[in-house]
Amino acid sequence: KKLAASIEDDFDDDELVAFAENLENIPPEILLKEEKQKKDRPNNPLFKYRRGVLSVSDLSAQIWCEQQLTYKFLYPFILNDDGEIKRVDDKPHMLRGTSLHLERELEIQIKVTIECKTREDSYGVRLLNMIQGIHGLLTWNKPNERYITREMPIFGNMYGGKLYFRGIIDEINFDPRTNQLEVVEFKTRASRTAPKAQQTYTHEIQVNIYRTLLDELIQGQVDKSLYFQRFNLESTMLLSDSVKNEYNQRGFTNVETLENAFDLLVKLSFQMPTITTNGAIEYILQSDKTWKHRKEFERDERHLEELLIKSEPYWLSKRQPQGVDIEDAYKCQWCDYKDICTWREEKSNEFSRKKRRLN
Ligand code: SF4
Repeated sequence: KKLAASIEDDFDDDELVAFAENLENIPPEILLKEEKQKKDRPNNPLFKYRRGVLSVSDLSAQIWCEQQLTYKFLYPFILNDDGEIKRVDDKPHMLRGTSLHLERELEIQIKVTIECKTREDSYGVRLLNMIQGIHGLLTWNKPNERYITREMPIFGNMYGGKLYFRGIIDEINFDPRTNQLEVVEFKTRASRTAPKAQQTYTHEIQVNIYRTLLDELIQGQVDKSLYFQRFNLESTMLLSDSVKNEYNQRGFTNVETLENAFDLLVKLSFQMPTITTNGAIEYILQSDKTWKHRKEFERDERHLEELLIKSEPYWLSKRQPQGVDIEDAYKCQWCDYKDICTWREEKSNEFSRKKRRLN
């Protein structure tokens, strides 16, 4: 269970359950290797909570409130109003959002089950998802119709920084008439109103990260050895027959190892017809999918770079987490940790002291 918990970030829930059920069959040398790697890991939030790889939503959560993100790491379970212990992110509207994402994916793609025996297999499938999406775009032969692929994994360290990211792009579409590539993020809304600027801000950052990661992939700016190192993968280990067969059936022959798959991905990405992407967010109403609100926006690369410079020291334990500024105190109203938050208490004491001085 300990091992299963420590690899939680690398697997989705179903994989994790299957893994935990098979725990007694895991050879002792793998358990020992895992224990050793744990001891060798730097003791900072990046490695302690995220094993060296951040999800793109970690950064948006950090931008929303770094202190809240820290509490989520420390206390991931809360007692809800019905007296049940729940994961803090398992809110009904979030679960509804997940199922709507799946519905949208299935509108244009089918799910295929592939047996994975090793972590390398599971990453081989992730790379295949990317290869398939990009190959589909390269071979698109309908000049008057958009090509669309959904739920494509992405990864990389933007601008060669110390933070390594992974994520899933909700939609990439390509318009052959204009040669424009666009990254689209889907968000669900509970009410039939356009979101406020404070809400769209973190969504825009998320899209901008995806655009940058995709652009870097297309431009060949991906460090192969760093990928294998950060995800702790054996690049030359042979993939299982089930995974190799999937590659073969889709016409990608000669993929025996993860390294072969990675090289194929880079080769195909380099052939993409454009090197920069546009970005958009599509808001859908949870109770009525016909209601939509779309927002397109310009990319501000400098702002993204500045954000990364500000975020990095937190992940590397070079500074303490910070809560929200006084003008963003509205965020505390809905926060699950407001009753224990020391940042909020300090800020409120500071504010009272200032007020007393002014009086
Ligand atoms: Fe952040 Fe406010 Fe929550 Fe504290 S109460 S964690 S400052 S949102």
